[in-house]
Amino acid sequence: MTRVGVLALQGDVREHIHILESLGVEGIPVKKPEELGEVDALVIPGGESTTIGKMAVRFGLLEPLRTAVGEGLPVYGTCAGMILLASAVTDGDQPLIGGLDVVVKRNAFGRQNESFEASLDVLGLAEPFQAVFIRAPWIEKVGSDVDVIAAVDDHPVMVRQDSILASSFHPELTQDGRIHQMLLEMV
Ligand code: GLN
Repeated sequence: MTRVGVLALQGDVREHIHILESLGVEGIPVKKPEELGEVDALVIPGGESTTIGKMAVRFGLLEPLRTAVGEGLPVYGTCAGMILLASAVTDGDQPLIGGLDVVVKRNAFGRQNESFEASLDVLGLAEPFQAVFIRAPWIEKVGSDVDVIAAVDDHPVMVRQDSILASSFHPELTQDGRIHQMLLEMV
């Protein structure tokens, strides 16, 4: 059975495990470096990217995560997870895993639009995806190897680069498993 880890330092870990299990794979919380070696793919959940980053440093996970991503472990970051996978953020200084050649702007949709839903066209999906955005980032700059697969008002909100998939929105908060399925297809 395919084993998909969910980085379990902070954030909505349980929701990801739930949707992964609904797709017939095993969802495994990952808290220790050695647990990274036991999974076929990894989800980095939404939450607070500064907190997740600091905890990854404290638990000795940052370097092992960088290595795993660099070696091509299929990985999917949602919201804070997307921020952690970015090579840079537009402001501030926080620990990042990196690997995804994008610059991300945190909380980019602004106060009035802090949280919203949008019916989103996602490249590769036949029908739009009902996407939930919560204090979401957008992508400010994409590298030449990065494919933009969804955007809101011309701001990229979902991208793919080799074995890295990332979205600003939270598919784990819906009953729709199509985005997680895209990760499983990369295994
Ligand atoms: N705004 C959060 C951050 O910067 C991300 C929000 C989320 O994951 N829903 O980390």
